[in-house]
Amino acid sequence: MYKSNILCLLFVLFISYLFFKQQTEKNEINHWYKRLLILALVHLSFDIASIYTITHLNEVPYLVNRIVHQYSLGMMFAMFVAVYLFLSALIEAELGCKIQKNLYIYITFAIAALGIMFLPIYYNTTDGYSYGPGVYVIYTAILIFIILTIINIVKYRHLISDKNLTAMKLSFLVEAMVFLIRFLLPESRISCFGVVIIVFVFYLIAENPDAILVQKLTEANKKADAANQAKTEFWAHMSHEIRTPINAILGMNEMILRESSEDEIKEYAQEVKSAARSLLGIINDILDINKIESGKIQLTPVQYKLKSLLTDIYNMVYIRAKEKELSFHMILDENLPSVLFGDDIRIRQILINLLNNAVKYTKQGSVTLEVKRHNENTFLFSVKDTGIGIKEDDLDKLFVPFERIEEIRNRNIEGSGLGLNITNQLILLHGSKLNVTSQYGSGSEFSFLLKQRVIDNAPLHMDLEKDQATKAKQYTPIIELPNAKILIVDDNKMNRLVLNQLLKATKAQIDSVESGYACLEITQKQHYDLIFMDHMMPEMDGVETFEKIRADKDNLCNTTPIVIVTANALVGDKEKYLNIGFTGYLSKPINADVLEKILWKLLRN
Ligand code: ADP
Repeated sequence: MYKSNILCLLFVLFISYLFFKQQTEKNEINHWYKRLLILALVHLSFDIASIYTITHLNEVPYLVNRIVHQYSLGMMFAMFVAVYLFLSALIEAELGCKIQKNLYIYITFAIAALGIMFLPIYYNTTDGYSYGPGVYVIYTAILIFIILTIINIVKYRHLISDKNLTAMKLSFLVEAMVFLIRFLLPESRISCFGVVIIVFVFYLIAENPDAILVQKLTEANKKADAANQAKTEFWAHMSHEIRTPINAILGMNEMILRESSEDEIKEYAQEVKSAARSLLGIINDILDINKIESGKIQLTPVQYKLKSLLTDIYNMVYIRAKEKELSFHMILDENLPSVLFGDDIRIRQILINLLNNAVKYTKQGSVTLEVKRHNENTFLFSVKDTGIGIKEDDLDKLFVPFERIEEIRNRNIEGSGLGLNITNQLILLHGSKLNVTSQYGSGSEFSFLLKQRVIDNAPLHMDLEKDQATKAKQYTPIIELPNAKILIVDDNKMNRLVLNQLLKATKAQIDSVESGYACLEITQKQHYDLIFMDHMMPEMDGVETFEKIRADKDNLCNTTPIVIVTANALVGDKEKYLNIGFTGYLSKPINADVLEKILWKLLRN
């Protein structure tokens, strides 16, 4: 009768020896396994003692018999609690955060402790013994812990590795069966085997090299994720901070370009403009790389006009090409549809990146954008140049972030080595790939296929010469609004000045205030036709001020169009503000053309 119990005790002793000898990791899982081992050892020892006291009822004083049983049962219960906590620690390790402990655990624990201390455990009968209420209380408490453990395993099964899950299920099944047998056949004394199985399987989970490795990797992964998150937040913050001074530089510079009559000064201002724009481009690229790396970039498909996409691109690239005395051609299939469904912002970004590179790396000759209809809903975009070309060996370095090819030859060409990586990732996101062919010394071609849903198949008509002619003209405001009243709300003096200056040519009557409170105050007394509202302001931000104006029916600007002006210029930000209810969105640094379009749209009547 004792033999099997002693054997089990020896086995658990052996496992304990192995565990305490090897164990180097200090974590919650090992911490609970250690307790489980100690409880198992105490439980098995008292179990052996209780077999002795039961079989020698007449020789052992009643009190000793009771204490031995109390400890044996108490430790068995404590073991199940340790099993529960061990598995919780395991789940928490895989989950990366604490799981909430149920209130029932504490209640059950307290009732079990009181039951075992004060209720009769066994009734002494002539032909053996029978259970007293103390035992039933303990068994019920154990059953509750088994159920709680099963709930946890089922709830978090997707988070636990397959191997651990199988081990848990198996050991638990065995232990539950043993518990049942012990309950129904108290004299069978096989609970010690259940203890052995639990101890052994959990040993494999806690000390197995795989488990340790997985745990270490999970921890390293969590740290890397946190670092990545911190990096992304840092860049989002930096971008916000950098955009505000660039807004001042570009805004004031725009005034010089508009108002100066000296060609030399205008030329300097043009240089400032292009330097500030390329600084902005680098910031946007770094933000994009961060977003791509953290898997946060998603396509946002909308209905868009192919003509406006291509016209914008043409106007931008045409100016750059002209500055370098390159010719820029756009060859379009006759059967290109006019309206498509896709992420036009990302497509624009891809094409602008490729075309800017083509202009950058071409000294003479031409840059060509060709768009062909490959089939019903797939289009072929190709950007060709007659530039410096790329060596065959360098082709596979093209998409590596921060990698620039032929640094020495290209040292005068500005760039961060991020553009092609982003472009490639964005094309991959569209389910396509970027093809590159190049002849070193005579030019390159970057092409890709793009699937887009066709919304309107009517052929698109482009009149590029006309668009280009309007662009080349001297600045004249597209709209004059001498009767319009416009309010600027911004806590930053420079931002107020920039917007004020950019609006000057419209001849509108402009007021500006420096806080949300001041805005609420002035709009109570005065009606405005349009409000430009900064977002980040101390005390009451732009969104809160906006909501207060809209909520107050007596406010004279209750229905006035309100445009948010913000340095939050990541993809998706615009939609966020429009969803809040803002009439329009203007990102910093303020683009004078976008500002004019907003004025045209909102105030032309
Ligand atoms: P960068 O900011 O340096 O232009 P990209 O990622 O856009 O970074 O391009 C990576 C490298 O690929 C560039 O440094 C350049 O050497 C090469 N490259 C890209 N486009 C062209 C092109 N059209 N012709 C020749 N070389 C190019």
